[in-house]
Amino acid sequence: MSRFLVVDDNPQNIYQLYVLLGGHGHTVESALNGEEALAKAQQTPPDVVITDVLMPIMDGFTLCRHWRADDRLCSIPLVIYTATYTDTEDEELALSLGATRFLIKPIEPEEFMQQIENVLRQHQSGHLHPPPDTSLQEPQYLKMYNEALVRKLEDKIADLEREVAKRQQTEEALRQAKERAEVANSVKSEFLAMMSHELRTPLHVILGYADLLLENTFGELSSGQSDVLVRLRNNGRVLLERISLVLDLRRLEDGRFPLEVSEVSLPLLVQQVEDEMPELRQQPGVRYIRTVAASLPPLRTDPGKLRLVLRNLLSNALKFTEAGTISLKVTKNDQGIEIGVSDTGIGIRAHALPHIFDPFYQVTDVNTPQRGGVGLGLHIVKRLLDLLDGSVTVDSQFGSGSTFSVFLPWGGPPETLAEDD
Ligand code: ADP
Repeated sequence: MSRFLVVDDNPQNIYQLYVLLGGHGHTVESALNGEEALAKAQQTPPDVVITDVLMPIMDGFTLCRHWRADDRLCSIPLVIYTATYTDTEDEELALSLGATRFLIKPIEPEEFMQQIENVLRQHQSGHLHPPPDTSLQEPQYLKMYNEALVRKLEDKIADLEREVAKRQQTEEALRQAKERAEVANSVKSEFLAMMSHELRTPLHVILGYADLLLENTFGELSSGQSDVLVRLRNNGRVLLERISLVLDLRRLEDGRFPLEVSEVSLPLLVQQVEDEMPELRQQPGVRYIRTVAASLPPLRTDPGKLRLVLRNLLSNALKFTEAGTISLKVTKNDQGIEIGVSDTGIGIRAHALPHIFDPFYQVTDVNTPQRGGVGLGLHIVKRLLDLLDGSVTVDSQFGSGSTFSVFLPWGGPPETLAEDD
């Protein structure tokens, strides 16, 4: 068993040698630079020193020079183990300074150990050649040492230049990718806007004619004809709603959904939503109940956006309640207005609750094709309420129903400052 002193400014390298040498029964001391190594060795000389070259405070070459100049240490083998100084000139300098071996990383552990055991054996049997002429004259030493440093500097500069070139290439590739993504995004936006418009306009015309037909404007209809027409109109409305959702999301994402805040009467707004959704009172087996607290003061908000929120929540309640009750309840408290939309429908499983406001999220096993939907309604509700400085929460029991609670503060969304403010 021998005592090793390992000198390296990288603790990970020290650890590797600690494991390797320790595994062969040796003890290992360590130092983080040449100066610390000299101090430790002068106190308790090791059997062998293994040193890195590039280190702060005192590098491996200088350590080697001091080592050989020290009477107590000069006969102890010093092995240079480096990954940075790898030229033959570096090796020549190290050996001329009295290094016993010059090993370049990486080396397989077995080979490394062979070299070290070899040094130990030769040293113990007195066969280790005495350190070569260490009387390298100061000017000569300085010249070689400076040359080694300059070589290293040149290597480092070349490395840096390569690194900079690589980064510039990556940055350029990123810039081009970003440009392409922006173009694609704006094309997508334009396309969606165009499609929404192109689809909505004829749909409005179709629905208008369906209403006129159902009002017998073009003559009396048989009950069979009316039934077919009602289905046609209902499906037309669903289609219109889905197209509108996509358009709403696009406007939200483009920041093109400006707030139009006014003093809003909630009973009136609820009435408007109900008028827009006659299906609330037409779905067989479903009862719709509305409770609006008496004497509600007007609320500062954007009525169009609030109507959209309520329509989305109510149409979900209808969609997921085959039979039962849907209720809309408006209450007030000191901070603002609370609107609860509850149903006694299928409810939502606990694992899905954290995701239902995510875009395009649907609870797969309950979203049958009959129910349809694209998973955007609740996401839009959340984004609209963010704009209104409000919030939405959900409480649901799978199998028993859900309650979505919307909160809106009395003060409404923050005012947009006028230009000259
Ligand atoms: P979708 O267009 O699918 O209705 P939403 O974003 O409005 O999209 O809702 C997301 C998912 O949350 C729905 O697909 C459904 O699984 C679930 N969900 C929303 N509202 C209810 C509700 N009232 N009852 C049960 N599940 C609901």
